[in-house]
Amino acid sequence: PGEGPARIEDAELLRRAGALASYLSMAIANLRMRETLRAQAIHDPLTGLFNRRQMDEVLEREVRRAGRHGDALAVLMVDIDRFKRVNDNFGHEAGDGVLYTVARRIRGLLRDSDLCARLGGDEFVVLLEKVGVDEAESAAHALLVANKIRMAVSAPINHKGNEFGVGASIGVRLISARSGDTETLLREADTAMYEAKKAGRSQVKLFSATT
Ligand code: GH3
Ligand code: MG
Repeated sequence: PGEGPARIEDAELLRRAGALASYLSMAIANLRMRETLRAQAIHDPLTGLFNRRQMDEVLEREVRRAGRHGDALAVLMVDIDRFKRVNDNFGHEAGDGVLYTVARRIRGLLRDSDLCARLGGDEFVVLLEKVGVDEAESAAHALLVANKIRMAVSAPINHKGNEFGVGASIGVRLISARSGDTETLLREADTAMYEAKKAGRSQVKLFSATT
């Protein structure tokens, strides 16, 4: 007879433990879902790089921070040359494969603290952190990385048995404490990239206020 109430308590305890377990598993599923949604909101689905919106936000923050610390940064605008031909000749799926490989190669050349985003289409932006102590050193380092990217992109790309060769035109804009807003900086990097296209593609141009 003394065991009756104890058994009811056990059952109640079990019921509560079960309720708690299902509550916790739901809470964890919720957190996972939120994390997935957050990751989807800031990344480009094809390449896994940051998307344009995230790049805008991070660039804004990093430019402000660099201004406070007196660090020099550089922003690189990278655009694949004649990319439309890949799509036209081999199809959109092959084009996607090339974009994916290009993204991996660019990211692979950067430091963890550097940032890389796909702006859309065949256009990528790279933000290089702490490029140098003065303008000459910053320019030299940024141009070196930009040329490494240009060469890495132009190495043959294998996709499902086909080999592709694409070039890249890159515009470099150095950023110092006195630089303007991020929108202007991106536009100026774009101007330099366009100069590289006009000069024959597959090259790197440094933005200068006089161009
Ligand atoms: P340019 O040297 O002047 O940059 O020539 P381009 O052909 O690379 O220039 P354009 O900007 O005209 O072409 C970019 C092409 O990128 C257009 C579009 O067909 C293609 N594109 C944009 N987004 C995607 C994508 O997500 N996947 C694939 N496969 N192609 C894309
Ligand atoms: Mg292009």
